[in-house]
Amino acid sequence: MEADRTMIEVLQLGTGSTLRCRGWRQEGVLRMLENTLANAERPQDLVVYGGIGKAARDWPSFHAIVRALTELADDETLVVQSGRPVAVFRTFENSPRVLIANANLVPRSATPERFFELSDAGLTMHAMYTAGSWAYIGTQGILQGTYETFGGCAEAEFDGSLRGRVVLTAGLGGMGAAQPQAVTMHGGVVIVCDVDAAKIARRLDSGHVDKVADDLDEAWAWARAAAEAGEAVSIALQANAADVAQQLVDTGRLPDVATDQTSAHDLLHGYVPSGLDPDGAAALRADDPAEYQRRSHATVARHMHALLEMRQCGSVVFEYGNDLRRSAQRAGVQEAFDIKGFVSLYVRPSFAVGRGPFRWVCLSGDVADQRRLDHEARELFPEDAALQRWLAEAPQRVPVEGLPSRICWLAHGARAAMARRINELVRSGEVSAPVAITRDHLDAGSCCYPTRETEGMPDGSDEIADWPYLNALLNTSSGADVVAIHQNAGDIGGSCSAGMTVVLDGSALTDERLERCFDVDPGIGVVRHASAGVPEAADYLPRSGIAVPRIDHATGSRP
Ligand code: NAD
Repeated sequence: MEADRTMIEVLQLGTGSTLRCRGWRQEGVLRMLENTLANAERPQDLVVYGGIGKAARDWPSFHAIVRALTELADDETLVVQSGRPVAVFRTFENSPRVLIANANLVPRSATPERFFELSDAGLTMHAMYTAGSWAYIGTQGILQGTYETFGGCAEAEFDGSLRGRVVLTAGLGGMGAAQPQAVTMHGGVVIVCDVDAAKIARRLDSGHVDKVADDLDEAWAWARAAAEAGEAVSIALQANAADVAQQLVDTGRLPDVATDQTSAHDLLHGYVPSGLDPDGAAALRADDPAEYQRRSHATVARHMHALLEMRQCGSVVFEYGNDLRRSAQRAGVQEAFDIKGFVSLYVRPSFAVGRGPFRWVCLSGDVADQRRLDHEARELFPEDAALQRWLAEAPQRVPVEGLPSRICWLAHGARAAMARRINELVRSGEVSAPVAITRDHLDAGSCCYPTRETEGMPDGSDEIADWPYLNALLNTSSGADVVAIHQNAGDIGGSCSAGMTVVLDGSALTDERLERCFDVDPGIGVVRHASAGVPEAADYLPRSGIAVPRIDHATGSRP
């Protein structure tokens, strides 16, 4: 009964122009929280994505956050500690309305064992990136990042297109479900495995996959035929990713590209061992977690061996941000890191110029506002070919989930220009209600994740975690509406990151806030990459307008 009541409340997503809060900035943040849950994988448990990434610690905390937001004054700041609201302080009108710190532990304690002891004791929660910072916009949020990644792969490995290529991957969860569309948007064929029939049915219904094969032989025959005909098709298959990879290797059937987006970062709560369906996995997890992990380790090791063999035989293989290599290494596959990660291979040149997963959310709930902003972005950036291609396709191909939103990768400079234009449109009433701008933590300057975003930095600074903290401090100083610092997005102890959201309410005060926020937020990313010696950043920094203090090494160590 309690679960039913909370679900019904969650599904009442605020839309239109009626305020429940004392101002649009608070209302915008509330709608972002509601929208995060409206798009969640398991809203009844407050779990948004990534296996166990939550929006609030528990239901009482969720309701207390909603209450606090509705009562929050224009010069107050709500403080949230790992999904639980703990204080409201008097600050300034220009200050953030919400500050969040999720899942942070001192480095020595940041192990999976200790983290889960503490979360089981109700002291912290797993928040992934956008779940606990209330910036999740459904699968579309990751779609363009996935589109950019497969586009980067097509550029680097083939002739700029995936036409005629077969991609093998797995995972149709909140993030993984973006893969089939991203591949077909680049003209390719994809087989995507998931152990969960319900996930497959959901993604077929929503149009994320085109068809479902009964078994691997059928999937492979369809894939080869489509690739030979140059058709773009996505094929789902209910199967364990490790079994499929191994069967393909054993029978000499090689995909052109192989990757994976199961929740392999978590071998107890996410990754499913071979031989179990989701119900069997849940039962074993509850009854005998040690046995579950033993089987998970065996499966992930087999999975990695098959991927390494595919690579050896000529397939392009990369890790797609799910810590599969680290989990496999822990399971004994020492050579797992022979496979490289997607950021170092395909995304770094974008991050170097502050280009990353900018997104806008139409708080009105009106699709007409979304269409208007798509149009504005195309008008504002006619020279950006990737953006033009994306915005030509996305309105037809990306289903609206929750509040109409658009992810649209923009660089430093372009982000402020777009935000400025949106605030003008809100002010003039051409967009029917305020718009929230937010982003993933997977961005230029907001993340330290040595096996992902910061893998293989030229100066070896992969593990230097100062940058996301500087990012959060800068966004706080500049008046973003929500600023969040997180740890443990995937592999526990593996990352630190920061999130931000700005509500564009059309006001002059917001004109000032947005100029600063959308300079500093991608700007510190440019600085981070220039300081690491990434050539594209070093080239752009002098033209960026960012002031950099000169350090004269010739002056020696004493004044
Ligand atoms: P999710 O938990 O919502 O979905 C995972 C899916 O994998 C589920 O549908 C599950 O049934 C399936 N699955 C688990 N084990 C399987 C197995 N052995 N074989 C086949 N299917 C299996 O997770 P998500 O939100 O989709 O995230 C997936 C992974 O991607 C996570 O590890 C996450 O950290 C990572 N991630 C990557 C990026 C990125 O940009 N690259 C961004 C966010 C998250």
